[in-house]
Parts: sequence; C-alpha cells; structure tokens
Amino acid sequence: MTFLLLIFRVIVVLLVIRFVLRFIASIRQGAQPAQRRKPVAERKGGTLVRDPNCGTYLPESRAITVGALHFCSSACRDAYAAAHRGNASGSALTS
Ligand SMILES: [Zn+2]
Repeated sequence: MTFLLLIFRVIVVLLVIRFVLRFIASIRQGAQPAQRRKPVAERKGGTLVRDPNCGTYLPESRAITVGALHFCSSACRDAYAAAHRGNASGSALTS
C-alpha cells in the first residue's frame, strides 16, 4: 500500500511541475507577444478566392490571377484556358 501511495505522490508532483512549467511558459508568451502571435495573424489575413478549374480555395496573395479569375497553379490556369479556348470568357487567358 505504501508503494501505491509513493506512485500517487510521484504522479501528483509531476502534475504540479507540469502545471508550473506551463504557467511559466504562458508568462513568457505574454512577455513576447510579437514573436508568438505573428503566425496566427498571418493565418487570419487575406481573402480566400476559388480556383474555377479545380474548385480549390486559396489565399488571394498566393493565387495566380488572370483578370478576375484566380488559379492555384499554372497547370490549372492552362487547363482552364484550354477548356475555355474560343469562348468569350476564356479569351483573356489565351494571350
Ligand atoms: Zn486548381
């Protein structure tokens, strides 16, 4: 029975140490807000646009823009241009 109590005490001590370490980490995060929160801000920014060829949504900043259309890759742009060649809507892509 004392062995079980010892194990229980070790677990409690480990949990307390973990809590203290997390608390210290959260304090350090608060002290360096610019480093910690920058990736989140980058993830939030930007407008999502839809690739008319494959239907993928991607940030406008990373899209290949042709007129009002946005493509995820040059392959999608070329496939869309080939499929719409001769149409009025695709004439801007064949330049
Ligand atoms: Zn695509």
